Amino acid sequence: HLSISDRVYKINPSLTLAIDNRLKQMIAQGIKVYGFGAGEPDFDTPEYIKEAAIEAINIGFTRYTAAQGTMELRKAICDKLERENGIKYNPDEIIVSSGAKHSLTNAFAAILNPGDEVIVPVPYWVSYTEIIKLNGGIPVLVKTNQEQNYKITKEDMEEAITPKTKAILLNTPSNPTGIVYSKKELEDIAELALKHNIYIVSDEIYERITYDGIEHVSIASISEEVRDITILINGMSKTYAMTGWRLGYAASNERVIKAMSSVQSHAVSHPSSITQYAATAALNGPQDDVKNMVKEFEKRRNYMYEKINSIKLLKCKKPQGAFYIYVDISKIINHELDGKIINTSTDLALVLLEKAKVAVIPGAAFGTDNYIRLSFATSMDTIMEGLDTLENFLSKNF
Ligand code: PLP
Repeated sequence: HLSISDRVYKINPSLTLAIDNRLKQMIAQGIKVYGFGAGEPDFDTPEYIKEAAIEAINIGFTRYTAAQGTMELRKAICDKLERENGIKYNPDEIIVSSGAKHSLTNAFAAILNPGDEVIVPVPYWVSYTEIIKLNGGIPVLVKTNQEQNYKITKEDMEEAITPKTKAILLNTPSNPTGIVYSKKELEDIAELALKHNIYIVSDEIYERITYDGIEHVSIASISEEVRDITILINGMSKTYAMTGWRLGYAASNERVIKAMSSVQSHAVSHPSSITQYAATAALNGPQDDVKNMVKEFEKRRNYMYEKINSIKLLKCKKPQGAFYIYVDISKIINHELDGKIINTSTDLALVLLEKAKVAVIPGAAFGTDNYIRLSFATSMDTIMEGLDTLENFLSKNF
């Protein structure tokens, strides 16, 4: 009787926990570690956004707001979606939540019945599968590969669709691969989704972080019909270096947004009024800080991409967006490194942490065990020294 629910038991414990724990221990012991694990910008929240939050406190904007979010913020989101993505929404078609992760949770709570299937291209962001399972759904994992640039194709998708398919989950630009879907690729996916009557849940949290002049396309911008079956997910965390503020949002048809709002109203009510006030300022204010951050990320990406590919045992594709490099480690898997057989990406991550003092995320967290993920949301000095250290360690011990 005092057991934990089956639903929660089915959730995988975080694969990165062992590494995280060890990393924290090492840092506490004063050991210098080169950290490539970060999932957040290493920049500070821009000043004008902080000032807005202080203003919110000073003017007493500290009470409950509407569960769906303030009208001012939802209007600012509508303006943004029209200005940057070319999609028209009205404020009734927007809900703000405590981070994009929370928006995703509300979205799946609103649309899934027990046993409904959600197509998830692999590699995927670590929380997708667990959020789907927590809400009674079944993640249907569809493998992609390097040759396909880790993108799900029309054929892959068609094959995965069953009468139980409720949605496909897309993430562009992608965490962990950094790939960006083209308009044509999105049109193919949208066409199938329309044909089979399935929702498109489109996680666009990294949309502003793209390189080489590549422009993110939102799948909801393809047509009115596609907009109607899409639940667009976005947020402030990555674009405005606001991970700790917790503000995400969803845009969709009014029926879906009402359902999400109902779920949210019985859980957390709404995100902090102060954060909402600051997020409104972020969206309506000058966007120079975003551009400067992306410029800096691009420099680091260029360096890392060249350097990693120059290391004999490693291989990677050039990310077009986000701030991660997904590194193929198949030449190391099942081989001996530092006197130990490396069977999994977690084995490698642990050896690198312990022996080279380099922290990376094992690919197993994203459903592909012959990879590791390195983040470039860290200083150029850390990147240069850390990669040299990694290179020396591999060449001496493999
Ligand atoms: N979606 C992806 C692909 C992410 O990488 C992350 C954060 O790492 C999120 C969503 C969650 O962002 P938020 O901080 O807004 O909850």
